Amino acid sequence: MRLHDKHGRNITDLRVSITDRCNYKCVYCRTGNEGALYSELPFADYLRMVRVFVDLGIEKVRLTGGEPLLRNGLVDFVRQLSGLRTLDGQELDIAITTNGHLLTELVQPLKAAGLRRATISMDAVDAEKFARITRVPNGYESVLAGIRAAKRAGLEPVKVNCVLLRGFNEDQIVEFARFSREEGVVVRFIEFMPLEEDRVWSPNVVVAMDEILEQLNTFRPVRQLPNAPSETARRYTFDDGKGEIGIIAPVSHPFCGHCSRVRLTSDGKIRTCLFSLLDHDMAGKMHGGATDSELADYVRSVVQQKEARHHIGEAGFIKPSRSMVHIGG
Ligand code: SAM
Repeated sequence: MRLHDKHGRNITDLRVSITDRCNYKCVYCRTGNEGALYSELPFADYLRMVRVFVDLGIEKVRLTGGEPLLRNGLVDFVRQLSGLRTLDGQELDIAITTNGHLLTELVQPLKAAGLRRATISMDAVDAEKFARITRVPNGYESVLAGIRAAKRAGLEPVKVNCVLLRGFNEDQIVEFARFSREEGVVVRFIEFMPLEEDRVWSPNVVVAMDEILEQLNTFRPVRQLPNAPSETARRYTFDDGKGEIGIIAPVSHPFCGHCSRVRLTSDGKIRTCLFSLLDHDMAGKMHGGATDSELADYVRSVVQQKEARHHIGEAGFIKPSRSMVHIGG
């Protein structure tokens, strides 16, 4: 029986955080503190948990963090994941979300191990603005090199994620449109969500979808492209069909009704929504001696409890018990 929740959504997409350490300190995500708050697990533990999920119908696995490229042994882990098969006997769709800083050297071995797609976060196409957001000097060139290396390696489509924050990078929208067209990558603007450690979120800081579209239209007329129902991004191109822009608008245009995702944190807890107030301790069950079939029953019961939707911006909104870096984006 495939995984579904009590709201009738099929769950096919698992995001696995393999560390909550990060080498960047993006203002919208984490504080300047170093080190992990929660423990990392051995890869064998993630592999067993992912296998249980895949046997319940998961088809896509996205590795994330923290910064996943910081984990030694990642290439072997991807190779082991690529040995798993979906319920239909297909290969898993294995993707990664990374800040790209260390990608240039790792991308070929990752691709050879079975990685299919990469999403790279880059919040400005200007080195100074980039440093102000990431709070790390001199990262821009490494990330740009990582994006280009991912393209060369054929991890298509290469997607570049940009979280827009008023006062930091809203002037980068048109620059990113040019970047998408010149580099042949999909640029995805993400509305800033209240998941940060530094408590800077307010509705005024969010650069919302309508404003992004307005800015893009000043550059060239945009045209919407079709997208799959469970896709988080609304897709656009320009009048001449060159370049692709995605807009992920969880704040102004929530897409919870089509959510097909669950998350596993780096310490092995299931989170059914980015805005969950609760963790579900799968690793604890596993370490306590649960069999695969008991773990599968546990996953099924947890997924049933998936929240109908988030409540960002509503009166009574409660900030989730973990910030993005400790959940896995
Ligand atoms: N370190 C990797 C990276 O930079 O892509 C993976 C982890 S990061 C938490 C995953 C994604 O979440 C990134 O694209 C990041 O920009 C996004 N993100 C982090 N905090 C966010 C927030 N408060 N609102 C919206 N997106 C956020």
